[in-house]
Amino acid sequence: MKIGIVGTGMVGSASAYAMALLGVGTRIVLVDANPALARAQAQDIAHATPFAATVAIHAGEYGDLEGAAVVIIAAGVNQKPGESRLALLERNVEVFRSVISGVMDAAPGAILLIATNPVDVMTFAAQRLSGLATERVIGSGTILDTARFRSLLGGHLAIAPTSVHAYVLGEHGDSEVPVWSSAMAGSVPIVSFAEQIGRPLDDAARAAIADQVRGAAYTIIEGKGATWYGIGAGLARVVQAIIDDERAVFSVSQVSADIEGISDVALSLPRIVGRDGIIANLMPELDVGERAALKGSAEVIAEYTSKLRF
Ligand code: ADP
Repeated sequence: MKIGIVGTGMVGSASAYAMALLGVGTRIVLVDANPALARAQAQDIAHATPFAATVAIHAGEYGDLEGAAVVIIAAGVNQKPGESRLALLERNVEVFRSVISGVMDAAPGAILLIATNPVDVMTFAAQRLSGLATERVIGSGTILDTARFRSLLGGHLAIAPTSVHAYVLGEHGDSEVPVWSSAMAGSVPIVSFAEQIGRPLDDAARAAIADQVRGAAYTIIEGKGATWYGIGAGLARVVQAIIDDERAVFSVSQVSADIEGISDVALSLPRIVGRDGIIANLMPELDVGERAALKGSAEVIAEYTSKLRF
């Protein structure tokens, strides 16, 4: 199965590398505004495949995306010194204008997986520019925030993160919402489990975990300038769920008709992902505070989205 990636900087190339190591797909096509970069990334990653899975990796043009089942979009421009978040966003929408039309001409049947930040607003832009059904335009959203949340909870409770069932919802950004009220360790409500084993999740412990989840990207950026491995692996995992029609649940972003009274906003909820994209949504039970926080998060995204012209 062919997978396309448009934008082969750090995030796009990390997702290609993760797919090569995990054996996701059979052919990966890399497209970038800088073809020399795409060629170099393809060669470098291809040299890893003898040690991993049999996946063919090539650089190409938009036309080479023909027949792709999924196209990851990680193309974007970086913030100039002094540039506002909105000005950067407008430049990234311009990038998406050309990228989405190139992808749609070559691979109209592909599911789009958006990774460019701010990912919720860019997911909205990609859906509007492509005209695809909302379930076929998936944003990486809070997949990584959810992974970090589970990992920190697993550490606090001394259990495997895979046995923690908890989500971060809303914006992939400062207004994200860690959901405590429906979080589980195995099948036990997490706060009650924490008490049973003498590692309570009191207000201070919860605030510390939420802060670490929210601040993780900032900490990594301080040390190495940007983040790419975690998101690269997360993107590879979502592609795998799509092409294998797994119907796995991820907290990913999608344009949603109504979130707590806010209409047409892209944000993350637990969503079931398979071959046709997002098959259904799971609306978790939220307490009053979480519900208000999710609404606030939707408002933050809607505010930016409303300023864009298509
Ligand atoms: P990130 O860390 O998010 O991956 P990078 O700056 O490393 O950011 O990568 C973004 C990539 O997107 C760059 O390789 C850049 O050449 C590419 N890009 C920018 N504009 C376009 C475009 N219009 N079409 C295709 N690729 C683009």
